[in-house]
Amino acid sequence: MPIQEPEYDLIKHPGDPCPHLCETGCGVFGTPARPPTCHTYACNWLRGDGTIEQRPDRMQAMPTIAEDKMSLALYLAPGLTPDTMTREAQRYARRWHKLTGNCVLYVWGVGYSKCTAHWADGRRRTEDTEYSFKREDLDHG
Ligand code: SF4
Repeated sequence: MPIQEPEYDLIKHPGDPCPHLCETGCGVFGTPARPPTCHTYACNWLRGDGTIEQRPDRMQAMPTIAEDKMSLALYLAPGLTPDTMTREAQRYARRWHKLTGNCVLYVWGVGYSKCTAHWADGRRRTEDTEYSFKREDLDHG
């Protein structure tokens, strides 16, 4: 997702590496230079949803609630697609369908340019970005 924090020298589009990234992670972690968005954001796993195997670095996917506030967005690690993602990511998505009946949006491709919506009944549709899907599409399948 985009991060717009110009007063912190950070305007970041999906898939772009952050200019503050360093070998050990966030180069401004624990300093006042870290943007508020980064302080407050927590993916689903950090919020307590998922097993240790489903930690984003292990399952190679970062789960978060999508813009429509009902679907799950799963940002797949570079190079992975909805057909090649890890088993843990598949398990995570299946559990979401089972618990909520709602859509999973797999976000993938160079610059996270592709989004595949996967409905609980098995239907799938791929668009150019996750923002291409309208809320009505996702609510009513
Ligand atoms: S947490 Fe640090 S590395 Fe990550 S987006 Fe924020 S500033 Fe950049």
